[in-house]
Amino acid sequence: MSLKIVVLAKQVPDTRSVGKDAMTAEGTVNRAALPAIFNPEDLNALEQALRLKEQHPGSTVGVLTMGPPRAGEIIRQGLYRGADTGWLLTDRLFAGADTLATSYALATAIKKIGDVDIIIGGRQAIDGDTAQVGPQVAQKLGLNQVTYAEEILKIENGVATIRRHIDGGVETVEAPLPVVITVNGSAAPCRPCNAKLVMKYKRATCPMERKGDDAYASLYDERPYLTLNQWSVADVDGDAEQCGLSGSPTKVKTVQNIVFQAKESQTLTADDADVEGLIKELLNEKIIG
Ligand SMILES: Cc1cc2nc3c(=O)[nH]c(=O)nc-3n(C[C@H](O)[C@H](O)[C@H](O)COP(=O)(O)OP(=O)(O)OC[C@H]3O[C@@H](n4cnc5c(N)ncnc54)[C@H](O)[C@@H]3O)c2cc1C
Repeated sequence: MSLKIVVLAKQVPDTRSVGKDAMTAEGTVNRAALPAIFNPEDLNALEQALRLKEQHPGSTVGVLTMGPPRAGEIIRQGLYRGADTGWLLTDRLFAGADTLATSYALATAIKKIGDVDIIIGGRQAIDGDTAQVGPQVAQKLGLNQVTYAEEILKIENGVATIRRHIDGGVETVEAPLPVVITVNGSAAPCRPCNAKLVMKYKRATCPMERKGDDAYASLYDERPYLTLNQWSVADVDGDAEQCGLSGSPTKVKTVQNIVFQAKESQTLTADDADVEGLIKELLNEKIIG
């Protein structure tokens, strides 16, 4: 059985390498100081999709991402690893989306893509950290969902068999297609970029990424696969009211930059009094609450 697979992938600031200048004076994320990367668990998701493609001849893998024009890089990174296509949702009307508006936009695009058998995303993005988008996409499309997946074991007779990571162990579940799957970082790492595919797709861009005086204009006429799909709200027949800021009930009031500094150290025993003292101190300092 050939499968039409869509991978949800987000471009995120690399919050793993946060330095002193990671936040602006206004308390917002200083994106210029943090490199933009492929959300780590979305790479685990992509690997699961590429393995399914290899196991089921005739299958296709497409990378769907919502972000500013530079997020076209996420589609290229997918193509370099073996994806067949991609779609960039980019439009000012998509900007400022919370998880509700993000999942609305992604679900609307998946409807537009049509006849998708499997949607695979990461468990969570390292910037927003909510892990809500995958389940919300499933809910909006009325599809089954399997979260915390570590491995898609097989697809047979229209049923996916998936190993999930749960508290204290693993469990194997079955879900009929179409299904939304979110993948944990403990799943197999993604394969590296393939040198031949990098050569093939390195000039692939979405129209909004191109500068007016593009030296490669004739190349895009000769090789249509170098023009990546770029969709606006209108292109996916979306309701602008449900997109971006206007579709987002969440308001982030402030973002605080808390720097933990190891100024002093304490040595504690496993004694009840020591443990109790530590808990009290952490509560007083409002480190836990
Ligand atoms: C500091 C901070 C705090 C925030 N707090 C909230 C909050 O409390 N509530 C809220 O609703 N929003 C919040 N947001 C906004 C939230 O990050 C964005 O709405 C984001 O688009 C989706 O949420 P997430 O990053 O948590 O994704 P998650 O739900 O963690 O992502 C799960 C998976 O969904 C897929 N996915 C997510 N976004 C995209 C995308 N743009 N394109 C393609 N695939 C995608 C990926 O596969 C990803 O691995 C916050 C953002 C920041 C920076």
